[in-house]
Amino acid sequence: MLKNKVAVITGGTRGIGYATAKKFLSNGAKVVLFGSKEETVSKALASLKDENPDWEVSGACPNLNDAEAVAKEMAKVNETYGRIDILINNAGISDSTGIDDYTSEQFAKIMQLNVNAVMNGVLGVVPIMKAQGGGVILNTSSMVSICGQPGGVAYPTSKSAVNGLTWSLARELGPSNIRVNAVAPGITRTDMVAALPEQMIQPLINAIPIRRIGEPEDIANAFLFLASDMASYVTGEILSVDGAMRT
Ligand code: NAD
Repeated sequence: MLKNKVAVITGGTRGIGYATAKKFLSNGAKVVLFGSKEETVSKALASLKDENPDWEVSGACPNLNDAEAVAKEMAKVNETYGRIDILINNAGISDSTGIDDYTSEQFAKIMQLNVNAVMNGVLGVVPIMKAQGGGVILNTSSMVSICGQPGGVAYPTSKSAVNGLTWSLARELGPSNIRVNAVAPGITRTDMVAALPEQMIQPLINAIPIRRIGEPEDIANAFLFLASDMASYVTGEILSVDGAMRT
């Protein structure tokens, strides 16, 4: 579905980003992972090469909070592969601190990676996509962007901002043949969720109409659809992939 497309995936070293990288590679894309540390990038690349030595995958670790560093790395990818067809802004951090313990710095830290860094990715890739005549930008939102959550207020706030960015950019960039969409995962089995004790997991499953936690591959499949030409008329959409758990 993505033969010869070039994709950049931030936070591609584990969890949803890693599953999406694997899905894209097995669908013919060339993938560049952006991670936060060289060791984790190398480990992810080795593991993907282990799966299939023919996959064209490389990695880098620009500071996503630094717009100039991100733009430089995007330019390098463009130089190496001749284009960037797809950007997935997926790196994100979550939080569950109660309001009484919240600090302004903590709020800013979450907003910085979950929102400002998404914008840095957009700023870095849009000139490249415009010059080549189009592209696809996909963001990782969250179920809680729509309904909020009790505690960790920065996280749903940041993901609501991601939705706003997605809707607005879709409208602004449509005439440049750049589609912009987001996937809003529900509870998905990654390191974010693995930390929860078993007695917390079961009640969560009971609240999911499909009666299971999402797998990273469920989210990767949604990204695959949105990145592919199958979604050629889909833009400005926040696609919920949450087993209908929206409370
Ligand atoms: P994860 O913790 O396994 O992965 C997060 C990724 O972000 C990692 O690759 C990590 O290296 C990267 N990252 C974190 N801080 C970074 C930084 N400062 N610079 C660069 N990269 C950084 O979690 P995940 O569940 O795979 O999360 C991926 C995305 O999915 C996030 O945006 C998250 O908010 C979103 N999401 C997850 C769930 C869930 O239940 N797991 C639900 C909704 C949305």
